[in-house]
Amino acid sequence: MTTLPFSSLPFSRAILDNLDNLGYQTMTPIQAQGLPLIVEGRDLIAQAKTGSGKTAAFGLGIVHSLNVALSATQSLVLCPTRELAEQVANELRRLARALGNTKIITLCGGTPIRPQVESLKFGAHVIVATPGRLMDHIDRGTVDLSGIRTLVLDEADRMLDMGFYDDVTHIVSVCPDKRQTLLFSATYADDIRKASARFMKKPAEVKVESVHNASQIEQLFYEIEPDRRLATVALLLEHFRPVSTLAFCNTKAQCRELSEVLESRGFSALALHGDLDQREREDVLIQFANQSCSVLVATDVAARGLDIQTLDAVINVDVTPDPEVHIHRIGRTGRSEAKGLALSLCTPDEMRWANQIEKYQGQPLIWANPKNLKSAAGGSLNPPMITLCVQGGKKDKLRPGDLLGALTKDAGFSADQIGKINILEFVSFVALNRQIAKEAFAKLSNGNIKGKRFRMRFMSDI
Ligand code: ADP
Ligand code: MG
Repeated sequence: MTTLPFSSLPFSRAILDNLDNLGYQTMTPIQAQGLPLIVEGRDLIAQAKTGSGKTAAFGLGIVHSLNVALSATQSLVLCPTRELAEQVANELRRLARALGNTKIITLCGGTPIRPQVESLKFGAHVIVATPGRLMDHIDRGTVDLSGIRTLVLDEADRMLDMGFYDDVTHIVSVCPDKRQTLLFSATYADDIRKASARFMKKPAEVKVESVHNASQIEQLFYEIEPDRRLATVALLLEHFRPVSTLAFCNTKAQCRELSEVLESRGFSALALHGDLDQREREDVLIQFANQSCSVLVATDVAARGLDIQTLDAVINVDVTPDPEVHIHRIGRTGRSEAKGLALSLCTPDEMRWANQIEKYQGQPLIWANPKNLKSAAGGSLNPPMITLCVQGGKKDKLRPGDLLGALTKDAGFSADQIGKINILEFVSFVALNRQIAKEAFAKLSNGNIKGKRFRMRFMSDI
C-alpha cells in the first residue's frame, strides 16, 4: 500500500513528469490514503505526523484542479505561522512547475502590507496566508475570495492552539459555500472535531499510524535524578556528538535554562519558544538549519511543523505525559534513509509516563546507564558551520548566486566550503565552513558583491 505510484491517480502527464523530476517516486502513506479522496473532490480530515508529506497531499490536489487560464484565486491555504506559509508556498511552486505560469503568493504578518496589496491587484491563482494578515486584507477589501474552490487548513491544531479559531471562522464564512475543504493536523483533539463539524461537509477521515519503525530510530532511556537533568543533556551531546540535535522541554522556562547551561559549557545552543518575535525566530531557525548551531532547545508547540531535514538526534529533556506527543517528538529524527537517535531522560517521578509510552508503542523501552556516558575524544562539540549575516537582501536584488559567486569566483573558496544561503527582504545569511570563516569575512567585506559593498557580521562568536 505504501508503494503506490502517483500514476495510479488521474494526474496529467505534466504533473507526473514534474513529480519524477522532483524525485517523488512513490506516494507517502498519507498521500496514498488521502489523494484519491482529494482528487474525487471530497472534504477530508487528514492526520499524520510532521514530515509525512502532507503538503504535497493537498498541494497535488490544488495543482490538479487549478485552471491557470482563469486569473481568479481558486485555492486558499491557511497556515499558523509565516515560516510555515513560506514552506508551503515553496512546495506548491515546485509542484506547480508542471502547469507553467502559476501565481502563488503568501500573505503573512511581519512584512509590510502595501506590496501585498499591489501584488494582489495582478491576481493570484493560489494564496497561502496566516489568518491574522488575511483578516486585514478582508477588512480592507483588498482580497477577493469569491472564486475559492479549495480551502486548506494546514496545521489546524496549531492554528487553533494559537487562538485563531474566530479568525478562521470568519475567513471560512467569506469563502463560497460550494467548495472543497481539507483539514490537516498532527493531532485530532476535541477542538479539531468541533472545527471540522462547522467548516466541512461529510468529511472523509484518514489517519496514518504514528508508531515508528524501531529499526529507523535507535531509542534509549536514561533514569536520572532531577538535579542531574541539564548536566546529563550535556553528557549525551559529548558522548554521541550529533551534528544537529533538537532538545524538547515541557516548559519555556526550562528551554531558557537549558540553553543557558549548554552555552556556558561551550555548546552552541539556541532556544525556540513562544516569546520570540518573528525575526528572532527566523534567525534561530536559519542558524540551526544551516548547521551553525548544534542544539535547538524547543517546546512542542514552538517546534511543530518545522521541516528540518538533517536531524541526527532528538533529546527528550523530560518525559512528556502524552505518549502521542512522544512519538511525534522522536519522529523528527531518522527520516528517509538516515538512522536517527532518540534519547529520553526520565526521573523517578516520570516513570509512570515512560510506562505509558512503552504500552503505547507496544515495545519494551531500552534503558541505558547514564554512568556509561563519556565525553568522546575530539574536544568540544563545535558545529561545522558559522552564519554570516550580510546587510543586504531581496530589496538590493541580491540572489544566492551573487553571494556564492563572490565567495567562489572572486574570493577563491570552493563551493563545498559554503553552506546554505538564505536571502530575506533586507538581510542575507550565508553559512560558512568554520575553517574559512575569518578569511571569507575579510575578503567579502573588503570586496564587492554585485558591484556594491555591504556591511556584515557573524551571528555567533567565531
Ligand atoms: P508535513 O507537512 O507532513 O510535515 P511535508 O509536506 O513538509 O510534511 O514533507 C516533508 C518532506 O517530504 C518535504 O521535504 C517533501 O519535499 C518531501 N516529500 C513529500 N512527498 C514526497 C514523496 N512522495 N516522495 C519523496 N519526498 C516527498
Ligand atoms: Mg506540513
